[in-house]
Amino acid sequence: MTNPFQLLGISDDVVNAVKELGFETPTPIQEQSIPVLLEGTNDFVGLAQTGTGKTAAFGLPLLELIDFKVNKPQALILCPTRELCLQIANDLKNFSKNVANAHVVAVYGGANIMQQLREIRQGVQIVVATPGRMLDIIGRKAIDFSNVKYVVLDEADEMLNMGFQDDINDILSTTPDDKKTWLFSATMPAEVRRIAKKYMNEPVELTMGTKNTGNVNIEHEYYIVRARDKYAALKRIVDFNPEIFAVVFCKTKLDTQDVAEHLIKDGYNADALHGDLSQQQRDKVMQRFRERNMQLLIATDVAARGIDVNNVTHVINYSLPDEIESYTHRSGRTGRAGKTGISICIINSKELGKIRQLERIIGKQFTKAELPTGFDVCEKQLFSLVHKVHNVEVNEEQIDQYIPRIMDEFKDLSKEDVIKRFASLEFNRFLEYYSKAPDLNAAAGDDRGERGERGERRGRGSEGYTRLFINLGSVDEFTRGDMLSFICNNGKIAGKSVGKIDLKGVFSFFEVEDDVADKVFEGFKSVEFNGRQVRIEKSGDSGRGEGAGERRGGGERRSGGFGGERRGGGGGYRGGSGGGDRRSSGGSGRREGGRSEGGNAGGGFRDFSGRSRDEKGGSREGGSGRREGGSREGGSGERRKKW
Ligand code: AMP
Repeated sequence: MTNPFQLLGISDDVVNAVKELGFETPTPIQEQSIPVLLEGTNDFVGLAQTGTGKTAAFGLPLLELIDFKVNKPQALILCPTRELCLQIANDLKNFSKNVANAHVVAVYGGANIMQQLREIRQGVQIVVATPGRMLDIIGRKAIDFSNVKYVVLDEADEMLNMGFQDDINDILSTTPDDKKTWLFSATMPAEVRRIAKKYMNEPVELTMGTKNTGNVNIEHEYYIVRARDKYAALKRIVDFNPEIFAVVFCKTKLDTQDVAEHLIKDGYNADALHGDLSQQQRDKVMQRFRERNMQLLIATDVAARGIDVNNVTHVINYSLPDEIESYTHRSGRTGRAGKTGISICIINSKELGKIRQLERIIGKQFTKAELPTGFDVCEKQLFSLVHKVHNVEVNEEQIDQYIPRIMDEFKDLSKEDVIKRFASLEFNRFLEYYSKAPDLNAAAGDDRGERGERGERRGRGSEGYTRLFINLGSVDEFTRGDMLSFICNNGKIAGKSVGKIDLKGVFSFFEVEDDVADKVFEGFKSVEFNGRQVRIEKSGDSGRGEGAGERRGGGERRSGGFGGERRGGGGGYRGGSGGGDRRSSGGSGRREGGRSEGGNAGGGFRDFSGRSRDEKGGSREGGSGRREGGSREGGSGERRKKW
């Protein structure tokens, strides 16, 4: 069978290399861009998120177009950070490993320039560079760009955001006029448009997904808490997702350090990544994270930009970014290469307006999520542990020799006692911490006053919706998506008639449009689930207002202990599946379905004009590292506030 990359026009040597990397089929952006770029005759604008396979989308055609017999720079790729620069160069080296005489060099600040100059002197065809260092090398007359045929501006919006516009101008002026320019950007503010206009001749324009739309694989959630509960909320989210592998974003280096230190002290596997660390320290932190020897990476925007680590389950915005569009870059750390991910914002009630702005920009609705109770967390952890114990691989050969002694140690205990003890080993830590854990959501409610978001009152539905109670919840292994289908199937209503779903432990609340509420009652008249009568009540009728009833519900269960009959067969609880299980894609599908994808230009939030180079902390060639020395992370971000 012909390989799909071959069908797109990629040669065997390159196809074999990408096959080895596990690329079986082209991603949508590759499918669309490769044939256009292979022609080599067009300028090109690709509007695409990070993590969509952009690098191969431009990298593979470049490898076909370059004459590798000639040892002169023929392609120049400019990108905003050192990490991205290394990543792109590394990808290109991998793609071209079977191509004879292919030479790729990465040129970035914060590293030995002599080594980079040496590599250039030895002859390279592809230069991947951050603008500052590139300009430095051009200034030393150490590179000849007269044979450059292709220039790629990757993450163009970020380069402009970081103030590289003048540098880019200067660099491009040293390349031939007839070169082709390919620009990739996650967002398309007016400044990027201007660049496209200035440097390009009738570019072919491709948009992957809706303009400014976030990655469709990412669900967006927010939690409202009081400022003083932020750290507790973070811990609770992490504890509720035992398999979490997350990047936590803070605004300043100090916050990053602070949060990381607290987490480490509290027994979490976390570390900080910010610009005050030496390059070596940063590399070390990143290596630990990449190898999954660390679960939580606490990072500043600049330090984490361009990081490509697969399988990040969550991005947590411990604080919202100063600049709205940074949110797209933050959330793009998860949901990469076709995987799903969750982007969480921990906010206070005053920041709700920002969430609404973000919704407009990315054209997706955020879900207001409730922080799990201490009880929920303990339960989740317990079953994650149970699940792990059940599935652990046993090395029969090694363990066999110890079994007689182990059996002897346990001979006075019943099987049940042994199980209880194993479970308690890890679990006691959570029980202890959460035994008196307050309801952080309730605290957030205080903060909001009587009224919640969008005028919604506790215990009542949003405008036009009826809020209903149902006696099923997450302990019945329902995700929001499951619940949505359950409601639609039994109530015989369409998904778009269902509003918010608040999945609780033993029960849940959901909203349906007022005019279908009766239909739902009718549909649920004699529905059973696992042999139990399903009950639906108008929220408030049963006294189960979100303030009172919920906690009462928790109380009931608590007194029932963990062996309560509702969890019968509890081993099947979906512990260990990270954040994915509660937040099903069904939920997000519903929400997106109900909204038009607002193509907000987003450019209105940015103001690149009038910022002098000096303002941005001098030379930018340090890539991400050096720039952080400037004001952006120094806690004086106000100047750039764009909300
Ligand atoms: P990028 O957007 O280029 O940073 O790519 C994001 C991730 O997707 C990287 O880890 C790539 O290795 C991976 N990737 C790119 N193209 C493909 C493909 N066709 N099949 C599988 N993985 C891919």
